[in-house]
Amino acid sequence: MAKFDRNSFSLKGKVALVTGGARGLGKYYSIALSMYGANVFVVSRKQDGWAELKQIVEKNGQQIDFLSQDITVSGAAEKVIQAVIERFGKLDILVNNAGMQLRNDVLDFKDDDWLKVIDLNLNASYFLAHAAAKVMAEQKSGKIINIGSMQSYRAGKRIFPYAASKHGILGLTRAYADALAPYHIQVNGLAPGYITTDMTKALQTDPVRGPEIKAHIPSGEWGVPEELMGPMVFLASSASDYVTGVMLPVDGGYLLR
Ligand code: NDP
Repeated sequence: MAKFDRNSFSLKGKVALVTGGARGLGKYYSIALSMYGANVFVVSRKQDGWAELKQIVEKNGQQIDFLSQDITVSGAAEKVIQAVIERFGKLDILVNNAGMQLRNDVLDFKDDDWLKVIDLNLNASYFLAHAAAKVMAEQKSGKIINIGSMQSYRAGKRIFPYAASKHGILGLTRAYADALAPYHIQVNGLAPGYITTDMTKALQTDPVRGPEIKAHIPSGEWGVPEELMGPMVFLASSASDYVTGVMLPVDGGYLLR
């Protein structure tokens, strides 16, 4: 970034790929990026949320496209990146958001469930980052934003494959940031705390865990998805060009305790 001014947060003319970007937290990332001027390409298996998102992004004055693709299958990353290039001619921002969580007692965990979680949360993120990095290196600029979790730092024992995958995402973010810095590509992440989404609905209403979680959060409040929009725009924009290898907690201070 040569200078800082009120355009430093602008994403005008940029192209963003958001995995799982039509619903859940991904939808909010897609909207935030389009609000600041980016065209958005979304990939997920189903089209849930797509029609509504398309309307919002187009109202923001930006273009949006969708590809139905399971990103865990072999060759998916190259196919997705190719589709973005065919549609928009370049790729400036990759948001590795698609993720899943499976919960079980430690001795009952099935090998297949471990593989499913690692394949989506870690392997698919890496393969997409790798394919995107080749395009971004040619462009001599790019932003890769990996979605971690408080489980990038903590150890949820009933969701240990999820914790392992999100620790892996932290490691990938740091090592990849170092490796890609000479190509002017920044690699960072967001670690959302307890956010009110479908994934956390059961926890919010759990008579024991609900109040326990709330008591642990220094701000005393669960986060809403909108809290992640500002940090996402910051990491996607040139305002953060000297920030790399960081996994930014957006958790109301949960990790402080
Ligand atoms: P959701 O379950 O609501 O959304 C997941 C998204 O990923 C969906 O769009 C889904 O679409 C897509 N997806 C899942 N599997 C695949 C696949 N194989 N190929 C392509 N797309 C896929 O999750 P959240 O919005 O709650 O979470 C998003 C991210 O944020 C995850 O990485 C999660 O770990 C992280 N996170 C969430 C927190 C929360 O409080 N919700 C807290 C901390 C981190 P489809 O099913 O159509 O493929």
